[in-house]
Amino acid sequence: MSGWGCPHSHNDRCNLLHLPCEPGIKGCVLYGQFTFSDPASPSNEAVERRRERETKKEKKEDLPRGD
Ligand code: SF4
Repeated sequence: MSGWGCPHSHNDRCNLLHLPCEPGIKGCVLYGQFTFSDPASPSNEAVERRRERETKKEKKEDLPRGD
């Protein structure tokens, strides 16, 4: 069984960021898309901010219009 392999990873380096591959760092394709088990992952905060924005937007859309 094989796991997901990032197409930008080559020899444990990121071809997008020109840094060692660290899934979830800012600029990574996974940033803000997934919550990582490491609570220090910057992606986790980005996911949370996106969820908050979406919730605010949904609440705004649910408000009755004052026509
Ligand atoms: S840092 Fe992200 S985008 Fe870059 S190689 Fe790793 S998983 Fe892929």
